[in-house]
Amino acid sequence: MSYEGEMLKDLAMPSRKEVEQVLLKILFRHNGVIKEFASGEEIVNEIADEFHLKKNQRTAVLERIYRKENRIVKTPLWHRLLYRAADSLAKEKFVSRPTSTILLTNKKEWMLTENGFDEALKILNIPKTQKEFLSTKSYEVQKVVKKLIATPRPENYNPFDKEKKVAKITRESAIRTRGFRQAVIEAYDYKCAFCGMKLNSLTDKSWEVEAAHIVPHSEKGKDDILNGLSLCHLHHWAFDAGWFALHDDFTIQVSLKVNSLPSDFGRMGDFDFIRIFSNKNSKIFLPKRKEIYPHQKAISWHRENKFCY
Ligand SMILES: [Zn+2]
Repeated sequence: MSYEGEMLKDLAMPSRKEVEQVLLKILFRHNGVIKEFASGEEIVNEIADEFHLKKNQRTAVLERIYRKENRIVKTPLWHRLLYRAADSLAKEKFVSRPTSTILLTNKKEWMLTENGFDEALKILNIPKTQKEFLSTKSYEVQKVVKKLIATPRPENYNPFDKEKKVAKITRESAIRTRGFRQAVIEAYDYKCAFCGMKLNSLTDKSWEVEAAHIVPHSEKGKDDILNGLSLCHLHHWAFDAGWFALHDDFTIQVSLKVNSLPSDFGRMGDFDFIRIFSNKNSKIFLPKRKEIYPHQKAISWHRENKFCY
């Protein structure tokens, strides 16, 4: 047995396989991404806590002699085990390495892949069908997000995706949908573009807002930021139902049908979630960058086809 192997055994350290499993769980807990390990990092301790490691297990140091350079290299044993587990997960394609993730996010992080995400769900006994409701990031979804953000704004935008299969969900379309959702919600800083409402869940950091299609999914509307709006549940529903439209300058137009609504409709206490936009030139909240504002081609289609004047 190697010197390292003996040390691991003597200190009764967890096996690499056990560390791998816990690592997947911790990645899931951190929404799919954790920083590259450096000793002293909180995450290194968090994983150690999962195993209730004792002080001597956390602080044991492995000394190796580098004969070539004639020097001794000291590495914390726990840290090394952690790195090996992560490296093995990367070989199994369950996580992407910091060297790949940095190209995507500019940060040195370990990130779940779609396969790793599935594996984490399996370990945690969460049905795969929950995937689309979770805010967990994955390498593949992040790639879609990056592409959506980087696509140049075309003058002659077509908000329809002729190829779109509306009824059938494939692995690719599910990843695209999650990418669309994440890109849109992030672009609007997790707020409703209408009322500004921002609220996250207490457990999994998912957001109350939804990514709404301007040209709806059912009409083969594209899954991209130019055809998206981040809206709270109420305003998403009302926008789809035709209570609102957007002018080309992003002011909100309210259906005149609101005048014939009974006065107690559309209210939550004092808050009237439709009429509040009636008499002012209210503009929606927009993303920071103009290139990803909703496209006039999409909002004019919605105005002409979904809005009830
Ligand atoms: Zn709202």
